[in-house]
Amino acid sequence: HRSRLRRLAGVRSVTPDGKEIALEANISSLKELEVALSSGAVGVGLFRTEFLYMDRHQFPGEDEQFEVYKAVAEKLAGRPLIIRTLDIGGDKNLDYFEIGEEDNPFLGYRAIRICLDRPDLFKTQLRAILRASAYGKVKIMYPLISSVEEVRAANRLLEEAKRELQAEGVPFDPNVPCGIMIELPSAVTIADLLAEEVDFFSIGTNDLIQFVLAVDRMNERISRLYQPFHPAVLRMLRMTVDAAKRRGIHVGVCGEMAGDPRALPIWLGLDVDSISMSSHSILPIKERLLHTHRSDSIDVLNRLWECRTAEEAIRLLESFRLSVE
Ligand code: PEP
Ligand code: MG
Repeated sequence: HRSRLRRLAGVRSVTPDGKEIALEANISSLKELEVALSSGAVGVGLFRTEFLYMDRHQFPGEDEQFEVYKAVAEKLAGRPLIIRTLDIGGDKNLDYFEIGEEDNPFLGYRAIRICLDRPDLFKTQLRAILRASAYGKVKIMYPLISSVEEVRAANRLLEEAKRELQAEGVPFDPNVPCGIMIELPSAVTIADLLAEEVDFFSIGTNDLIQFVLAVDRMNERISRLYQPFHPAVLRMLRMTVDAAKRRGIHVGVCGEMAGDPRALPIWLGLDVDSISMSSHSILPIKERLLHTHRSDSIDVLNRLWECRTAEEAIRLLESFRLSVE
């Protein structure tokens, strides 16, 4: 079975009725990119840069970051690379950066909030990413966005970084696309407004599920309440994709749900542009995609909106999954 899947690595990911969807990889390092490429990833939909900041004694400097981003961009040889800016805090902490005790770290000082509070750290990373954009199809993505102001504040620092590089005569792509993660309920409900500010959305289902349902994604005692197919989550997905479509911007998904075979008809039915997942999920998802009609997915989706519970939704998706061979 494994070798049969391997042969699909170079095959285009398109449904029998012609809907193509880009299958991309989530990576945290250059090494993981090799696995992604051998699994047939057509790009990187999420480069989690925080791992560059972990297991060390101080923040990585601009040159050090640039070398890593550049190496990843070059290895991708023209395929798209979404670099997510620093997403620490919550469950990901740095030994050398004291955040202090917080009652609710997942709701606390983290991700874009730290970056906007520490423009020195943020601009160092933005400059490194911009410099790498001269070596591939680089895009920038901000995590944990909850408002239009945050996007604008981040973009102001991005513009500042661009002006500096320009003045220094350092090459970069002046039109580097800039997008946001949609992973908070606030972002979903103002997705129409956010869509006017950015070039693309990527739905982060891991955090979105956690925040929509108020269920800590790390807490095993309540893991039964962490339900990707809860009607509230499904409606949030629909709202986000609708807003992106209305504005004509690219919309992808990069949470764990993207690699769940049961969710495939949702992405096909909603017509998302790309799904990004752990490398090991890419070929199994592609195999299913090659046998799943978009028209059938739309039918399933229409029935999915009628489901009143996560259990009902799962039953429907599971029986559809079994019907596709
Ligand atoms: C997400 O929240 O869905 C996501 C992809 O980001 P992370 O898992 O790194 O928080
Ligand atoms: Mg997240």
